[in-house]
Amino acid sequence: MPAYSPVVETVLEHNRAFVESGAWRDHAAPGRPAKQLAVVACMDTRLTRLLPEALGLENGDAKLIKVAGATIMEPYGEVMRSLLVAVAELGVTDIMVVGHTRCGTCGMEADHMLDELERAGVSRERIERAVAEDPRAGSFLNGFAILEDEVAASVRKIREHPLMPESVRVSGFTIDIETGRLTPVSV
Ligand SMILES: [Zn+2]
Repeated sequence: MPAYSPVVETVLEHNRAFVESGAWRDHAAPGRPAKQLAVVACMDTRLTRLLPEALGLENGDAKLIKVAGATIMEPYGEVMRSLLVAVAELGVTDIMVVGHTRCGTCGMEADHMLDELERAGVSRERIERAVAEDPRAGSFLNGFAILEDEVAASVRKIREHPLMPESVRVSGFTIDIETGRLTPVSV
């Protein structure tokens, strides 16, 4: 058995109790999303429960894809892949992109992030080698400047994707990180 950190040990301990208690029975749901909906949102910890509760989503209702900034970076990256699977295989007909206020990805600077990673133990030599091997290493940690513009850009990337059916409705919103209020973003 590997030695886990105290946090992971706590998780495992909770997991054993959860399974034994039978509480999982309350979460039974089909794999196909009942609301035929996929939501792209940020990984922010404040959204863990706020997002599904503010949107009225129960287990089984929607495909929830969470990445930093709710940003779709690559036309052939993991987020687009997940959305296309959701549409092609799982009956999704609606996609919502939901950015949030006070997002940590807003104003994020790649150079600063690389400095932080160096402080976390990645040598400058390794960083420079990574950038030399693939220039994206020096820029892909950049964030965005304006939340609404970023949501709109992600909506356009989904709508205009060559493999996305035109019948799929794609909309963009911001969510207030405190109140959970959704505000539409015009695209
Ligand atoms: Zn965020």
